[in-house]
Amino acid sequence: MQDLIRQLLVEIGEDPTREGLLNTPKRVEKALKFLASGYDADIDVVLNNAYFTVDYSEMVIVKDIDFYSLCEHHLLPFFGKCHVAYIPSTKVIGLSKIPRLVDVFARRLQVQERLTNQIADTIREKIAPLGVAVVMEATHLCMSMRGVEKQNSYAVTSAMLGIFRENARTRMEFLELLRTRTASMAGLPANVPLACINE
Ligand SMILES: [Zn+2]
Repeated sequence: MQDLIRQLLVEIGEDPTREGLLNTPKRVEKALKFLASGYDADIDVVLNNAYFTVDYSEMVIVKDIDFYSLCEHHLLPFFGKCHVAYIPSTKVIGLSKIPRLVDVFARRLQVQERLTNQIADTIREKIAPLGVAVVMEATHLCMSMRGVEKQNSYAVTSAMLGIFRENARTRMEFLELLRTRTASMAGLPANVPLACINE
């Protein structure tokens, strides 16, 4: 990987032998391996069977999970907050495992829509809840750094499964909880066109 990064530096007009760049290929390799570490992660190891049988059928919400990912079209970061809710059927998942689940899928090359769906689908597979909802709001550097579209816009994606899809009241209850208790969501603009710029 380091040879490729040295080559890349030459291609953009840099001199990879100058002092400041000497260790850059090594650093970039290390950073990229970390940012792509989700490919090697085993979901079952990460979740470590932290499923518990409970007699609880109210909404469980984990809000404001910070995440950092890389857009697969530009290899530039997109990052923001992830909010997860589900209504248990018979099992709950350890609360601390949900941010780790988000990390597993965020540390891959992604588009925000797929990342959102993968988190929701995995929770559905693992504990078969009555419903799962995932909302992600993110800034995409491929949009803001390159000055395309609105520089301060957020992209918002959601995945609604089970009762969150079927029952408008449940869905609204969740969205209302996000709106009223999350400062960052308070001034949220309407959904912006999502796909990062493809050219
Ligand atoms: Zn992009």
